[in-house]
Amino acid sequence: GRPGCECNRCFSGPDCSVRKPNCSADVASGDPLFLEPYWVRHAASSAVVISGWHRMSYTTTDRLYQSVELENHIRRLHRAVGNAVDGDKHIVFGTGSMQLVNALVHALSPDANAGSPPARVVATAPYYPNYRKQTVMFDGREYSWGGTTAGWAANNASRNSTAGGGSGFIELVTSPNNPDALLHKPVLHGSAVISDRAYYWPHFTHIPEPADEDVMLFTMSKLTGHAGSRFGWALIRDARVAKRAYDYLEQTSYGVSRDTQLRMLGIVKVVLANLNVVDKDIFSFGHHVMGTRWRRLNAAVSRSRRISLQTIRPQYCTYFKRVREPSPAAYAWVKCEREEDPDCYEALLKENIITRSGVRNEASSRYTRMSLLKSDDDFDVLMERVTELVNAEKYDA
Ligand code: PMP
Repeated sequence: GRPGCECNRCFSGPDCSVRKPNCSADVASGDPLFLEPYWVRHAASSAVVISGWHRMSYTTTDRLYQSVELENHIRRLHRAVGNAVDGDKHIVFGTGSMQLVNALVHALSPDANAGSPPARVVATAPYYPNYRKQTVMFDGREYSWGGTTAGWAANNASRNSTAGGGSGFIELVTSPNNPDALLHKPVLHGSAVISDRAYYWPHFTHIPEPADEDVMLFTMSKLTGHAGSRFGWALIRDARVAKRAYDYLEQTSYGVSRDTQLRMLGIVKVVLANLNVVDKDIFSFGHHVMGTRWRRLNAAVSRSRRISLQTIRPQYCTYFKRVREPSPAAYAWVKCEREEDPDCYEALLKENIITRSGVRNEASSRYTRMSLLKSDDDFDVLMERVTELVNAEKYDA
């Protein structure tokens, strides 16, 4: 159980060890609690105490809204891990990377007063649904949701408007992708690209080389698991784009909570101090958990003719300096193979497994997403339900 917390929904009793019978597995959300045991082990060194008088001001002493100390530690982390080139980039903090998605869409859109047509914001299916939901919500003079890239790719080469990096498109590229874990690249010619690198860390994927796109997004939610602190950052090459994103942050929230920045500094310091230290490296820990979960789930699903998983191969990782046992960047992308299961989400729901339908990602309803990021208890319940499902196939006609 979790120290000092309430029990997982499928467990009860004073020490949370009593199983509730027939409890359904809930693997819908990407809540990254798989890292909680790491922070329980490092409870003392990662604790941050903030006195009542501390950081009361709207501004920090070093700069208006962003801690330079935190920025420097984030740069150090990128260099130590080798997952992003930071030297020629500006850093803009956001309240989670969610806030930065819209800040960057704004920053890359043409000036509404200059008479240019609005940018079209696009993504390749299956994509992270919040891109669409957020863009549709804020839709205005500057930009609008343009749907998936598939419809535009054909006549893209001949497009010639001025918005969004010359082609009129702002393309959201998630790499590795949520939900299918592939390392995606932009597909439209000349689009302005927002490269969402939320999962580009060694616990989720091999790192072939440091990412070096013009606009990259990262989040503490998936790096250390501190999703509730709401902290993300963007690495931005162009000073003008960075300034527009920063202005967006100023106008919407006056920057990220100084309390959050202080806590994140403490957390990043612990991560840095333990890099490459045996039994203490957060990426070794995280990769061990994700790799083990993936192996167990694959072993069960490989006996099934009803459901299948995406294939992920072992690849050389520059961080671990070896071929890395595969793990999906956080999610199993499940396909229902039988004619009778056209809606995979519904089919699994009947087996007491709560997933997220691929329809949300504009993929076929044959697909659904299982989160592998949740707690050990959640994963254990998932394994039980999947095992029951596979065993039941033997008795099918
Ligand atoms: N981008 C991607 C691809 C994600 O999967 C998520 C969270 N599930 C986010 C961004 C948002 O993360 P946060 O706002 O917590 O930083």
